[in-house]
Amino acid sequence: MDAYGIEPRPGVVYLVGAGPGAPDLITVRGLRCLRQADVVIYDRLVNEALLAEAPPQAERIFVGKRPGRHACSQAEIHALMIQRARAGKVVVRLKGGDPFIFGRGGEELMALAAAGIPCVVVPGVTSATGVPAAVGLPLTHRHVAGAVAIVSAHHAGDRDDVDWAALARVDTLVILMGVARLSRVVELLRHHGRAASTPVAIIERGTWPDERVIVGTLADILSQAEVAGVCPPAIVVVGEVVNLWRQGAGVPLPRGEHVLSFSD
Ligand code: SAH
Repeated sequence: MDAYGIEPRPGVVYLVGAGPGAPDLITVRGLRCLRQADVVIYDRLVNEALLAEAPPQAERIFVGKRPGRHACSQAEIHALMIQRARAGKVVVRLKGGDPFIFGRGGEELMALAAAGIPCVVVPGVTSATGVPAAVGLPLTHRHVAGAVAIVSAHHAGDRDDVDWAALARVDTLVILMGVARLSRVVELLRHHGRAASTPVAIIERGTWPDERVIVGTLADILSQAEVAGVCPPAIVVVGEVVNLWRQGAGVPLPRGEHVLSFSD
C-alpha cells in the first residue's frame, strides 16, 4: 500500500462505511481493515457477503435490529467496542453507507474518545448519493439543480427540529428513512410551497439485487408507493433532476425490477 494507505493496528477501532448494499461498493481501505479484523461488529443494513472477507477466526457480532431478537442498545455497542479494543483486538465497526450520515457514527466516535480508545473513520459510499448514482440519477445538474440537501424523515415529526421551509426551496432533496413518514414529508413540502407537480423518485434497496424504483410527483407519490408496497430501506429523491433522469438521455436505467409509473 502506498504512503497514504493505513495499516490496521491492534487496540484501534475502525469505523468503516460498508456502502449502500452491493458488497463491492465498500472502499479499498474499508476492505483492508475488514481483512485484518479480529472482531467485526455490524449492523442490519450491511451486506453479510462482506463478512466473508474477514479472517475465518474473526469474531462476528451482529448488533442490529431483527424481528424477535434483542436489539443492542447504543450503550451496549459502545461497551462492546471499548472492551474488544482494550483486549488488544483489531476492531472493525462496520456500518451501512457512510458512518457519519444518520448512522450514529458520531456518537460512537465520541464514546470511544471518552474512553481513550483510538478510532479511525473509514468513509463509505452513502446511500444518499450512491443509490441515486447507481441508477443513473444525477443529484446535481447544470441549469437544473445547483444544490442538494440530505435529511432524515425522522426530523419530520410533530416537533420539527429542521427547517422544512428552507428544505422545500432546495433544488434536490434526498430523504432517508422516509418510508413510514412519507405522507408527512409530502405534506410539509407542499405546505412550504413546493409544487404538486414536482417529480419524486423512491429507490428501494438500492444496489441490492431486488432494487426497485418508483416514480411519481408530490401529488401522487403516496399512492404510487402504496400500490408498489414500498418497504425500507428506501431513499426518496425530490426535484427536477428526477424528470431529467426520467427523460433518460443516455443515462443507464436501473437494473432489477422497477416500477415506472408515468402519467403522460
Ligand atoms: N449511514 C447510512 C444511512 C443509515 S440510515 C448511509 O450513509 O447510507 C438508514 C437509511 O438509509 C434507510 O432508512 C434508507 O433511507 C437509507 N438506505 C440505506 N441503504 C439503502 C439502500 N440500499 N437503498 C435505499 N436506501 C437505503
